[in-house]
Amino acid sequence: MEQIKIGKFIAEERKAKGLTQRQLADALSISDKTVSKWECGKGLPEVSLMLPLCETLNITVNDLLSGERVCEVDYQKKAEENMMDLMKENQENKKRMALSVICGVITIIAVCSLIVIASYIELPVLTRIAVILLAVATAAAGIGAAAMLEVKAGYYECPHCKALFVPTMGEYVKGYHTLTKRKLTCPACGKRGMCKHRIVR
Ligand SMILES: [Zn+2]
Repeated sequence: MEQIKIGKFIAEERKAKGLTQRQLADALSISDKTVSKWECGKGLPEVSLMLPLCETLNITVNDLLSGERVCEVDYQKKAEENMMDLMKENQENKKRMALSVICGVITIIAVCSLIVIASYIELPVLTRIAVILLAVATAAAGIGAAAMLEVKAGYYECPHCKALFVPTMGEYVKGYHTLTKRKLTCPACGKRGMCKHRIVR
């Protein structure tokens, strides 16, 4: 998806309609920061906003995803390309998520086995310490890798403006979280909230 091209296209079509960012945002019941973010190429409208946005701008979803008005002849081809792009993106996110879970499980098994070895098997003291250190290192590496994969899998949804975004690693690590939600600052509206994790758009 060419976010920058799509953003420029949204801005052009909005201006052609004589709307300000605020007026377009009000028509869609979202914040003007979200519109500004789209237009700067920093994010795509989420799927549920695409139709109302296109209706307001008098364009098709195919035009929107192509970042230009698609002529009749190319229409089918462009529509298929856009569909494939969206599907590929969603698939990659699912793969990352699955890898993250596998990575977590392997880490837990490895760390538990090392702890069992260190606790129950007769070993010289130095070897025992080495095994414990290895367990700690494995745990740290595993958790790090799982987090890295998860942060890249999918998006977080702002509870205030419904913007979808990928948090930075720093934000992600600091954020208080439950299984499906994480406390993050929304880059679109700037509010903090419990953002829902979504694997697909
Ligand atoms: Zn927001």
